[in-house]
Amino acid sequence: MDEKDLGSDLAKVLIPEDRLQAKVRELAAQIDADYADKDLLLVGVLKGAAMVMADLARALHSPARMDWMAVSSYGSGTKSSGVVRILKDLDTDISGRHVLIVEDIIDSGLTLSWLASNLRSRGPASLEICALLRKPEAVRTEIECRYLGFDIPNEFVVGYGLDYDEKYRNLPFVGTLAPHVYGGTTG
Ligand code: 5GP
Ligand code: MG
Ligand code: MG
Repeated sequence: MDEKDLGSDLAKVLIPEDRLQAKVRELAAQIDADYADKDLLLVGVLKGAAMVMADLARALHSPARMDWMAVSSYGSGTKSSGVVRILKDLDTDISGRHVLIVEDIIDSGLTLSWLASNLRSRGPASLEICALLRKPEAVRTEIECRYLGFDIPNEFVVGYGLDYDEKYRNLPFVGTLAPHVYGGTTG
């Protein structure tokens, strides 16, 4: 899908496709260097991280395992509550493995902080986090994110895996929606 095909749904393109792809290659190069002598297990968080996981994994030069988790955080509206439920658990026993969580975005950081401590309790050899996007609010949560793509303003974004009402995940870039699409409030 192209930027010009979006018509009036999109307010603006925040991060164009070429910048996303360049950043993912940069992160992959760092990860390649850091895990040169280790077996890496990538854990993608469904569904938002599907795109960054697929591109990141392909940009790595060393072989890596890939697994997926799906979680939902209870909360009112669009705000995360920190109470997380596992919808799909890993197929892999991660004890003794070098695990890298791949996430789309850190907003409040509550989901990821729960997920990290859940996975840490399973006894991995190491556990690190890679997030494509981070919002300023996340700075207030204790999240050690080793690999970060972009810090973005406190706006609701879609595209490159991120949805609004399950739509727009397939956009190859990250953008913000026109107010008429979501009713004018970001929640
Ligand atoms: P957190 O727990 O860090 O507040 O947010 C967790 C999840 O909320 C993210 O993994 C993502 O799925 C969703 N989320 C947070 N901010 C945005 C956003 O700007 N756009 C979209 N589409 N989802 C978001
Ligand atoms: Mg997510
Ligand atoms: Mg969503």
